[in-house]
Amino acid sequence: MFSYRHAFHAGNHADVLKHITLIATLRHLMRKEAGITLIDTHAGAGLYRLDGDYAQTGAEARDGVVKLMATLRPHGQAPAAAATAIDDYLDLIASYNPSGTLRVYPGSPFVMHPLMRTESRDRLKLFELHPTDSRTLAGNIEQLGAGRQIAVARQDGFEALRPLLPPPPSATGSKRALVLIDPSYEIKSDYAKVSSCMQDALKRFPTGTYLVWYPVIPRPEAHELPRRLKTLSNQAQRPWLHATLAIGRDPADGPDDRPGLTASGMFVINPPHTLKATLAEALPQLLGHLGRGKGQGQALESGG
Ligand code: SAM
Repeated sequence: MFSYRHAFHAGNHADVLKHITLIATLRHLMRKEAGITLIDTHAGAGLYRLDGDYAQTGAEARDGVVKLMATLRPHGQAPAAAATAIDDYLDLIASYNPSGTLRVYPGSPFVMHPLMRTESRDRLKLFELHPTDSRTLAGNIEQLGAGRQIAVARQDGFEALRPLLPPPPSATGSKRALVLIDPSYEIKSDYAKVSSCMQDALKRFPTGTYLVWYPVIPRPEAHELPRRLKTLSNQAQRPWLHATLAIGRDPADGPDDRPGLTASGMFVINPPHTLKATLAEALPQLLGHLGRGKGQGQALESGG
């Protein structure tokens, strides 16, 4: 337990897919006046140094955000044309790196924060169980001076979600929530916890927007999870969208090398109606820029 530290993986292809989907979803939800509750059940440390010891160890960002930025926003040259969702994502990353050199990667809390509206209309609830990461997260959030608008708790995110749903009504009386469920899947039981957590959430608050990230790995639980989420959404008669991005094997790896994580998926329940077209434009471009060869691919399916 707790050997996972997101700092090793920050800015990798999985973060790119996850955060692009998150930004595109939030952009749409923020078009409505009414305030919204944002819940991040597995928030991580919040901010990561791409030039720090952790990130260097895996250097995973090099096959993710670093490659995307270098290709689409080359230093000293005009930016290349890209899908709106990719541009939006790179703008947000660039806002954390005003010098133009990629040093800082914003995790999900810091992806969400710039999109929140002031006057306390929106709320952000963050949960992180790792003792060090939750302390770092609390410190990073403190710097924002956001007061009661953002709450950080060192708590099990699966359990913390239940009492938060349904969310309190906004000033206009409507109840709105976006929930990001992004566990490390370090322990096998995380897969089952995601399913039961979603089953409960859909009963308590069927109209919430739920985003679940999962790794595409050769493990029965990982294959089963998106199937299970489809079934749950269909049973609850809620629409869903399922996006996957596989960057394929690193050509530098030998046949016996362990490839690391090469693919992941985002399952969105109650997606904004614009999200499918947005991701349909972005995914092939992401694959074009991040794909490494054997095993690469992307897919987008929807239902409900
Ligand atoms: N959502 C973050 C982002 O996009 O930047 C990354 C989160 S990382 C994939 C998963 C995090 O969940 C890790 O920081 C881990 O310590 C934390 N974690 C593991 N089990 C947890 C639990 N039951 N409740 C809350 N956090 C947990």
